[in-house]
Amino acid sequence: MLVVMKDHASSGDIQHIVDLLTEAGAEAHLSRGEIKTIIGVIGDREVIYTLDFEGMPGVEQVIRVLKPFKLVSRDFQSEDTVVTVRGSAIGGGAFGVIAGPCSIESEEQMMTTARAVKAAGATMLRGGAYKPRSSPYAFQGMGVEGLKLLRQAGDAVELPVVTEVLDVRDAETVAQYADILQVGARNMQNFMMLDELGTMKRPVLLKRGLSATIEELLSAAEYVLKGGNRDVILCERGIRTFETYTRNTLDLGAVAALKSLTHLPVIADPSHAGGRRELVAPMSRASIAAGADGLMIEVHPDPERARCDGPQSLTPADFEALMADLGPRLALERKLLGVTG
Ligand code: PEP
Ligand code: MN
Repeated sequence: MLVVMKDHASSGDIQHIVDLLTEAGAEAHLSRGEIKTIIGVIGDREVIYTLDFEGMPGVEQVIRVLKPFKLVSRDFQSEDTVVTVRGSAIGGGAFGVIAGPCSIESEEQMMTTARAVKAAGATMLRGGAYKPRSSPYAFQGMGVEGLKLLRQAGDAVELPVVTEVLDVRDAETVAQYADILQVGARNMQNFMMLDELGTMKRPVLLKRGLSATIEELLSAAEYVLKGGNRDVILCERGIRTFETYTRNTLDLGAVAALKSLTHLPVIADPSHAGGRRELVAPMSRASIAAGADGLMIEVHPDPERARCDGPQSLTPADFEALMADLGPRLALERKLLGVTG
């Protein structure tokens, strides 16, 4: 960290900062110019992050050179993390496709969808039992009954299942039924939930918050890794921008940036990003080109009657066509990247 003092800051102001640093156990290295003094700070990351000199007398600017995350960074681990559940892998060259309805609605809906997505080549099944709805009057999900239907459908077609933990109080229950625990965009910075999932033995699918920066997403993932759970998949699901034609804006720059910043697998969710069925295929292709390790795609047997997110859901036939189209692209992309296996 660098503390840049104001022009001609008094020696008392400079000494005050140096004293606070010494007290906290950090080292202060002064670079004194004729006009400006800059204090270079060296010390433990934990110590430096508790220090905040912004706004103190004589302080012009505080520049943090240390990233607020460590365990998730490529500097810490250069090889890709591969998250594997029930034989399905994501990361390190393995491309995962998580498909299924937005919300679990009935046994028939789940079984039909599970069979269709499995036949088309999906590697994991999704479905929400606890739904984060903007309106309290909208369908909130089937709860535990839904979890049971999801598990049953996943077992029937031999696909691992992914579902959202909306409330930390449900984490243990959800973990009894699900292979991967999803943290939704609205909970990305629910730090108590992240702490809790960090202690659990289930991989976490962490979706980017609606207005979260890349650094905030990585810092959220750091909470889970810090707790001891190294299996985190990041998901770019579109961010809020001024654009209203699409539900959100799929930030593919973030996918490419994340791939270089972190060793964790990064997937894209073109369904929630665009909010429109017709955008799912082109945005899936673009996600592959940007380097994504997988996709999350909403599929519903009858989107017009879906209780949630129908307009962005693909029919099983649409999904089959998309998978047939993506296969050769993936093979080509992997060849270009020199990925084997
Ligand atoms: C979902 O995956 O169904 C969902 C609610 O996504 P998000 O948290 O990204 O809005
Ligand atoms: Mn949805």
